[in-house]
Amino acid sequence: MSTVRLFFALWPSPPLAATLAGWAEQARPHCGGRIMRTETLHLTLAFLGPVDTMLADELAAATPEQRLTPGAMDVAHYGVFARQRILWAGPRETPAELQAAHDGMWQWLAGFGLAAPPQPFRPHITLLRNIENTHPPEPAPEPLAWRYDRMVLVASESLTGGSRYRVVAQSRPQA
Ligand code: ATP
Ligand code: MG
Repeated sequence: MSTVRLFFALWPSPPLAATLAGWAEQARPHCGGRIMRTETLHLTLAFLGPVDTMLADELAAATPEQRLTPGAMDVAHYGVFARQRILWAGPRETPAELQAAHDGMWQWLAGFGLAAPPQPFRPHITLLRNIENTHPPEPAPEPLAWRYDRMVLVASESLTGGSRYRVVAQSRPQA
């Protein structure tokens, strides 16, 4: 069976991604680690993991018919996943409408036989990997407002030296 690793994400606009890259640069002297490339910065809504290519094609075909309820969040906070040695940026608390978008996604995905992971949803944008200091820097930069109105379906392809992302579909923005 051939599979492809998929995830749904919110993708920042180029100016937002540039601001987030600034957050990464600001944290790097404090945390060490490896900075994520600006064009790869994203917020994962649902990580599907490896799925059969037939199902991947179905999902790619169905995604443009989906609508994500538009919302906004304040990215205001640096956080750390110490075990994974990741420094991230994200909202301080998960906004209710983003949680609802996540839950709605998984309800829809259940129709494809996919099940949500047991862990709670922790919205974050990975900025640095392999950090040496797992205390997040203080203070975070000025909060930034992220308005979203669509999600993208991304294939994550393993290459030597890391993963490459390929956007395979996006949901229909609200009319
Ligand atoms: P690599 O794992 O090759 O270093 P990566 O982590 O960028 O690269 P993926 O593992 O395919 O690529 O992950 C894609 C996205 O999904 C990333 O944002 C990652 O943080 C997130 N992700 C990966 N695994 C999980 C998981 N088990 N639960 C939630 N999100 C996940
Ligand atoms: Mg990974």
